[in-house]
Amino acid sequence: MTDCIFCKIVAGTIPSIKIHEDDLVVSFMDIHPLRRGHVLTIPKEHQQQLHLLPPETRAHLVNTVARIAEAVYRSSLKPDAVHYAVNDGPAAEQTVPHVHMHLLPRYKGDRMSFMMRLLRKPFDLVTGPVAGDVLMRDADAIRAELARVS
Ligand code: 5GP
Ligand code: ZN
Repeated sequence: MTDCIFCKIVAGTIPSIKIHEDDLVVSFMDIHPLRRGHVLTIPKEHQQQLHLLPPETRAHLVNTVARIAEAVYRSSLKPDAVHYAVNDGPAAEQTVPHVHMHLLPRYKGDRMSFMMRLLRKPFDLVTGPVAGDVLMRDADAIRAELARVS
């Protein structure tokens, strides 16, 4: 879809910091991360909701995110847990109408800081993206481990 920002990332017409790409999916760093290591994985096919994707694409999307989670666990980010999250339609807080799965590192005792980040998120659009060098560094760390995950 020409006016979809994630289709533009798939097409390479807007930049992104990619973690993984294959025939069906692309994974890249969220430009307004809720926390370090916030990765989005999208199908190359434009669909707004998960159930509209072909089953093999859906399965591959979830498998890819799980592999990336393994890489994040092994990386220097060393989370204690992660969220796999899909906001599947505008009423569920979906702001980009192209299926995407969030992978979000969590740490023991981080509930308050995590909730504060969630509350601040709408204002990120005003303050702009986080520094690219932090995203690059985390992407490098995750990519390095992903190469070792089967
Ligand atoms: P949603 O709220 O739709 O579940 O999540 C959309 C996510 O996409 C948000 O976390 C937002 O920060 C991220 N995002 C929006 N535009 C861009 C972009 O141009 N590049 C990247 N890398 N992430 C984006
Ligand atoms: Zn799209």
